[in-house]
Formats: sequence, structure tokens, C-alpha cells
Amino acid sequence: MDKPVKPDLQFAKEIIKAGGESLKKCYQCSTCTVVCNLSPDDKPFPRKEMLYAQWGLKEKLFKNPDIWLCHHCGDCTAYCPRGAKPGEVLGAVRKLMIQNYSPPSFLAKWVADPKYLLLLFLFPVLLFLGELYLLGYFTGTEIPRGEHGELAYSKFLPAVPWIDVPFMAAAGFAVICFYLGVKKYWLDLTSGMELKRKDIYNCIYETIKDILLHKKFQLCTFNKGRTTAHLLVLYAFIGLAITTSLAMFYEWVLKWESPYPQTNIVKIIGNVSGIALIIGMLYIIANRSKNAIKQGIGSYFDWLLITIILGVGITGFMAELLRLADTGTLAYASYVTHLVFVFVLFTYAPHSKMAHMVYRATAMVFAKAAMREEAIKKEEAA
Ligand code: SF4
Ligand code: SF4
Repeated sequence: MDKPVKPDLQFAKEIIKAGGESLKKCYQCSTCTVVCNLSPDDKPFPRKEMLYAQWGLKEKLFKNPDIWLCHHCGDCTAYCPRGAKPGEVLGAVRKLMIQNYSPPSFLAKWVADPKYLLLLFLFPVLLFLGELYLLGYFTGTEIPRGEHGELAYSKFLPAVPWIDVPFMAAAGFAVICFYLGVKKYWLDLTSGMELKRKDIYNCIYETIKDILLHKKFQLCTFNKGRTTAHLLVLYAFIGLAITTSLAMFYEWVLKWESPYPQTNIVKIIGNVSGIALIIGMLYIIANRSKNAIKQGIGSYFDWLLITIILGVGITGFMAELLRLADTGTLAYASYVTHLVFVFVLFTYAPHSKMAHMVYRATAMVFAKAAMREEAIKKEEAA
């Protein structure tokens, strides 16, 4: 006999507080499941997830890959006859999942709560101000310049140790948090199942292909512009990762310090990626604003990530332009602000909405390994 379902109203309240305030409006008509193009016939969502959310069935929600297989396109929210905003409710559950899986959980709670915003930024601000203090810039030490007298950030804050050490520590922290979070999530997803290791490698490869082509996003209908915006941001991040790797190669292997000529490949890839990042984020904001009435404007959690990424792009360009214009203090201030934004993006990636890329990828791998996608494939082929 099946165990009786025990509602957890406290958890339902947590979902409401996390941004799912409309969940009580759902009357289980299933329109959302019908309009969702990502929902397979044999394991449909998000109607059942709305029911789980109303009853506060935490375990059923957290161990359910559909929460992350939802790409938050908003089709269901746009067509829900009751205004129950299933897309937003699933977004709220994802936020709680990040708090549950990414350690330390208090950090994920801080990232999700505007009360702690200043505290999150305070740490890197104090860190970099501390570095400037140790270098003596607050006590009269002159800032060294490049060999031709140009303004050079590599002289202002030499990479070793002032940049490399804090950023490697931030990246290491993020990797450990992601590793522990994904391991816990994977164990929850696969409990009681046996998946073949060889198949999983193939599923990881297929998932990477899906992500690079944004195949799932393309299935969304109401907010089509989101695919282009997301792709721009994705490839901008890939470009910026290539830029950083090349810059490290110059610095560590070739012993060549920045600033590099504007025509150097590092500058070209970096600038093109930076422009793509800003355009992509502005496009995301424009899409959200345009569809706000039907799809919802998004939560503080969504907007925090948008602001941080836009902050990284804008301060990066300001630092470059102000350096080229040799504006002295203004250039140094914008460079330090840029470092603060990048540090915040990296360090809190496992606890912010940025974590979606890792948890969603994990759910996609699981869905392929558990053959949950077969139904969608059959539908597409038909
Ligand atoms: S969320 Fe809306 S569309 Fe979906 S089942 Fe509930 S009322 Fe129907
Ligand atoms: S937001 Fe989009 S992907 Fe998510 S459940 Fe709704 S229709 Fe499906």
C-alpha cells in the first residue's frame, strides 16, 4: 500500500517566500503541461510540480529532474488561465534547491536575500582595498607605470600575488562547492537506480552539444528572443574564458605583462566577448520587460545575477577605456570595481542563479541516462 502523503505547509510557505507566491492559484487544469514543449509525454511537467509545491512535498520536488529540465521560458506562465505562474514557482523551487545542495547553505541564503547584498560585496571590497593599503598607495607610494610611461594595471596590481592568489582561491572555492553540490544532487537523483558509467559519458557529451546549440531553448515559443540572448551570453563567457587562459599563458609562460596592444588576439577576443556579454544581457532585460505582464518580471535572485554580469561587462570596458585615456585615479577605481564584480561572480557562482548552468546540466545528463528524453525525441520525429 502506498504511504499516505503528508503535506509540509512550512515548506510550501518557503516556496511562496522564495518567489512562488502565485502557487495557490493553481487549480490543476494542466494547460501548463500541454503548452510546455520541453515536457515529455510519459513524465509530463509542470502541473504535478505545482501540486507538489502546494503540498510542500520537498523530497518529491528536490529529487525530481523536471525542476531543472524546465528552462524557465515562461510559455506555461503566459498561458495559465489562473495566473498561477508555474514558471516562476519552479524558479522559486530551483532557488531553494541551490540553498539545499550548494554548501555552505548560509551563503546561498545570503545571496537570495537583499538584506545581505552589501555584506556580499563588502568582502571583496575590503580585500582589494587591503591590497592597495599593503602596496602603500594610501600612504603616498607612487603607482608604477609601464616601461613607456603608460598607465598599466599589471604595474598597479601585479598579477602575482595580488590578482592570481585571490582569484585562484575564489575559483577553487567555487569548484569545491559545485563538486559537493552536484555530487549530493546526483546521489538524490539516482537513488535506487543503476546507470551505466559508459552511457553517462555519452550523455555528458550529448548534453554539452545541447547546451552549445541551445536546442532546448529553441523549443520555447512565447519568448523566442531568449534563445539569442542566452546564446550571446553563453558564447561571451566562453570567449572570456579563452581570453583569461591566453592572458595566463602570456603571463606565466611567455612572461609578457599587460597591457597588450589593442590588435593582439587577447584584446580582440576579450573585447568582442565583452560586447557580446553586454548586448546579450541588455537583450535579456528587454525580453523580461517586454513580457513582464504575462510571464512575470523575475525575482531579486534573477536580477542580482543580471546586475552582476552586466556590472562585470560595463566595468571591464570602463577600465579599458579609462586606461587608454590615461585618466589616472578614475581608471584605477574602475579597474578595482571590475575586480570586485568578477570576484563576486566567481565566488558566489554556486550560490547564485549562475548555479543553474551546473545543476541544469546535471539534470539533463540524468534525463538522457535514464532515457527520459525518448518521449520528446519520438514527438519531434513524428
Ligand atoms: S499552473 Fe495554471 S495552467 Fe498549470 S495546472 Fe495550474 S492552473 Fe492550470
Ligand atoms: S517555463 Fe517553459 S520549460 Fe518551464 S515548465 Fe513552463 S513551459 Fe515548460
